[in-house]
Amino acid sequence: MRTIPGDFLAIDRKSRARTISRGVRTRPAAERICDFDDVVIPLDPDTAILEASRCIQCPDPAPCMLACPTHNDIPSAMWLIEQGKFLEAAKLYRQTSSLPEICGRVCPHEQLCQGSCSQNKAFAPVMTGALEAFVADYERQTVGVEIPVGAPSGKRVAIIGAGPAGLSCAEQLVQMGHQATIFESKPGPGGLLTYGIPSFKLPKQVVFARVEDLERAGVKFVYHTYIGKDKTIDDLFAEGYHAVFIGVGTEIDAPMEVPGEDLPGVYKATEFLMRANVAPELLPPELREKPIVGRKVVVIGGGDTASDCLRSALRLGAEEVVCLYRRTEKEMPGGRHDRELAKEEGAQYQFLTQPIRFIAGENGRLKAVECIRMELGEPDAKGRRKPVPIEGSNFIVEADCAVTAVSYWPDPTIGQTTPDLKTDKWGLIIADPETGATSRPGVYAGGDDVTGPSLVVTAMVAGRKAARSIDQYLQSLTAA
Ligand SMILES: Cc1cc2nc3c(=O)[nH]c(=O)nc-3n(C[C@H](O)[C@H](O)[C@H](O)COP(=O)(O)OP(=O)(O)OC[C@H]3O[C@@H](n4cnc5c(N)ncnc54)[C@H](O)[C@@H]3O)c2cc1C
Repeated sequence: MRTIPGDFLAIDRKSRARTISRGVRTRPAAERICDFDDVVIPLDPDTAILEASRCIQCPDPAPCMLACPTHNDIPSAMWLIEQGKFLEAAKLYRQTSSLPEICGRVCPHEQLCQGSCSQNKAFAPVMTGALEAFVADYERQTVGVEIPVGAPSGKRVAIIGAGPAGLSCAEQLVQMGHQATIFESKPGPGGLLTYGIPSFKLPKQVVFARVEDLERAGVKFVYHTYIGKDKTIDDLFAEGYHAVFIGVGTEIDAPMEVPGEDLPGVYKATEFLMRANVAPELLPPELREKPIVGRKVVVIGGGDTASDCLRSALRLGAEEVVCLYRRTEKEMPGGRHDRELAKEEGAQYQFLTQPIRFIAGENGRLKAVECIRMELGEPDAKGRRKPVPIEGSNFIVEADCAVTAVSYWPDPTIGQTTPDLKTDKWGLIIADPETGATSRPGVYAGGDDVTGPSLVVTAMVAGRKAARSIDQYLQSLTAA
């Protein structure tokens, strides 16, 4: 339900609908491939006001609110923005979102809020994502962001993983008065916000500023600590933590299981993106050098990770960058917007193509990829037509570097080292989708480690829901 009351019957929906959007501007492709800086030009206040005034204030329940996994009150925020009340709009977003400055930038808006905008029927949707990022940035730049801390409860919660699920869980717990400590295996915070999503989509400073908000609110970060190896969940309880939240994501790059995958010059997407995009001081020593891309790079996969690898390869200086995908563009799981930006920057696409072997040159490094043509067969269980190899259609694609971006698997370590914690056959943690409760009392989980690879916003929602359940659990301990 919308939270700002008002007589919206009086508004002229037709003239709002006819107001032309200025859209979200990006830097020219030729300029942006020369660096890893943000490709988006931030909105200015006048453009933000004009864009928000295009919202026709749909009656409750507004489709954009329904489509947003965290149910941001977007129509009310638009109403505030069009009146220039940017700080009030930011405050409204922060009631339902722990990461508005991040979701405003990286959510696949065309599939969520903007995709459901009524304006889509005849005109362009309201640029709700860019407006969310605009007001969150405006707030930070003008008055700063403070997380209100609750009265101390005396209860301590250990959070495993500093990705969006863990950060959001911590943000909620400190507001309830609980002490939150985040244990993170990497040298820095953010999970895939830092170590996956490239800085030209999400500047690292945006993530680190949010982490600093959490630190000021008393959240402790313990880096270089791998739970399940350096210490276990049982150790955390023995150290006096009253509850644990697991937000460890799905960290392992799925192998392609084809010959030559381990050749020098063939990278897994995670390693490629980390080495390309993350500052050396935030990486383990063995990953501090930039990937060697040579002249021609092929990226294998059809998701957002593949788009990120293509665009990173162009920024690393590759002259020819080609995506190999085994289905057609229609079946690609990655967002259309990212793909359009990749094409604008020079990425090429070769569909119905499946690599079957990586071939070494005389120097032992990758020289070419043997591929086979595919055709689409019957739909699979999810309704996507299955790619089927065409016998005898093998061909060679020359490549100096290949990046495999096919899928991610969960790391089994936590499941294996935590007695009574149930996981499924793939190693994902079994948790109640509404509460995050696992099979082990006092242990909660959420984000990609429960759902499989998903979105920042869904991980954030899971962290927030789990925080509410942890709060109830901690209260039950006090009452007992
Ligand atoms: C390349 C790439 C691009 C993406 N782009 C987008 C996008 O544009 N928009 C979008 O919405 N989503 C995107 N996603 C998906 C999104 O990033 C994830 O869905 C989201 O980050 C999941 O959050 P999480 O907190 O569950 O896990 P993660 O972000 O994976 O964080 C988990 C954290 O736990 C730590 N960890 C793991 N195991 C342990 C352990 N045993 N002990 C301690 N710490 C541990 C990890 O180091 C990591 O920091 C992208 C994903 C990838 C890979």
